[in-house]
Order: sequence, then C-alpha cells, then structure tokens
Amino acid sequence: MGHQPILELYPWEPGICFQHPDAGAVQTTVVRELRTRLGNVEDIRACSSCIVAMEARREELALEAGVEYVPGHAGEPFTAD
Ligand SMILES: [Zn+2]
Repeated sequence: MGHQPILELYPWEPGICFQHPDAGAVQTTVVRELRTRLGNVEDIRACSSCIVAMEARREELALEAGVEYVPGHAGEPFTAD
C-alpha cells in the first residue's frame, strides 16, 4: 500500500507533532489521548512522516506475527490476537 491511501485514513489538522516539536505547526493527526492528573485530556499528535513510519512498523510486526495488517490505527498498541 502506498503512503497516500494510508494518510487518507486519518483526519488531519494543524498541530505539533510529538516527535518533531521543533517543526512547529504542521498537518497532524491524533494518535493517542493522554489523561492528565487534573482530568484533562491531551491529544498526542503525529505528522505524516511519523504516521508513515508507525504504519510501516505495524506492518512489519503484523508480518512477523502472521496476522493481517490493517492500516489506520497507528496510535493503537499492536496486538497479535
Ligand atoms: Zn513527526
């Protein structure tokens, strides 16, 4: 699967990538929500190159585990079940 169909699975909004904060506001998508001790929910955002890398890693893990790779869930923990 090419990058574009994978990226189209995610909603994009300007934001700060959790791995590239120095890049400033770029197109990002929420990969995880963190609940703080105060009860606030903070979005963890990733840019497109991070999503591509995360998806590639998931595909690799799926291959190793012999399970079907389903794109569009970059922020979810990988499980082989
Ligand atoms: Zn990034």
